[in-house]
Amino acid sequence: TAKNAGGNTYRFFSSEMKGVFLSKIQLENDLRSALKTEGQFQLYYQPVISSGEEKVMACEALLRWHHPLRGILSPLEFISTAEKTGLIVPLGEWIIRQACTDLLHFDHVLEDELVLSVNISPVQLQQQNFVGRLKMIVDQYHVSPERIQLEITENGLMENTSDSLNTFRQLRELGFGIAIDDFGTGYSSFSYLKQFPVHCLKMDKSFVKDLPREQADRAIVSSTIKLGKDLGLVMVAEGVESKEAYEYLATIGCPFLQGYFFSEPVPLPEFTKFVLERRTEC
Ligand code: C2E
Ligand code: MG
Ligand code: MG
Ligand code: MG
Repeated sequence: TAKNAGGNTYRFFSSEMKGVFLSKIQLENDLRSALKTEGQFQLYYQPVISSGEEKVMACEALLRWHHPLRGILSPLEFISTAEKTGLIVPLGEWIIRQACTDLLHFDHVLEDELVLSVNISPVQLQQQNFVGRLKMIVDQYHVSPERIQLEITENGLMENTSDSLNTFRQLRELGFGIAIDDFGTGYSSFSYLKQFPVHCLKMDKSFVKDLPREQADRAIVSSTIKLGKDLGLVMVAEGVESKEAYEYLATIGCPFLQGYFFSEPVPLPEFTKFVLERRTEC
């Protein structure tokens, strides 16, 4: 009967939803215990290459979670839970501390001053006295703010506009670099580029990875690079996966490149090895 079917449907949905619900709680619990345990979180590094001399100019720290049961997890699988639960605040602080430790290691091993990019969640920016806490941490490690670039997505920029404008101005004044991540995919508008003290744009990989095949990608990427350069911004193309994409980007004058074609994000020892090997090749 219809009533029975309804009952079944109800049970069906309810057990499905329970599954989703439980796994979110589980993820939250696992995140909490991971924050208390050494060694579950790790920063991987991906090089940012200058297109002329093919030198490593900078690197981006990308978080990995060695989950005890589920293996290595990408932030895409847990950052939003960390944001909703507020756990992104202690996690974000761990990330900044680890990035400072690693930067000092790079300075020592590479004898070269790379810029280190760190992804920042909008939830961290809205934290009370984010700027002060960040400054305190980098001071503790004797890392100069000029060495750290903060990456934030366009949508992150848009949340809480007047507050975040203020936060960004303070960060810039202290010397931190600010990059807009995944540029072109969010709700950005030209007025933000004019208003915000941004100094770098990272073009989203969705426009880059299939270059130079599609006319639309070519049009978007080449005009964005021109715009960025005219605005005096540092332009980075993310998601450079092929030699063809790299060559196209070099031809149109994209100054900085990042992607699997050069290196995937790798653990720290592999990253330093990559930089050193590349240097002896030149
Ligand atoms: P994102 O900041 O835009 O980072 C670039 C993502 O693209 C990384 O994914 C990277 O592994 C991937 N990627 C790099 N080169 C290529 C390529 O050539 N082709 C393709 N298809 N992909 C490429 P990942 O590491 O999974 O990180 C995903 C996102 O998670 C990041 O996007 C960033 O928004 C966020 N995230 C990563 N680490 C952190 C962190 O420490 N804190 C916060 N708040 N977010 C983070
Ligand atoms: Mg990023
Ligand atoms: Mg990106
Ligand atoms: Mg992103």
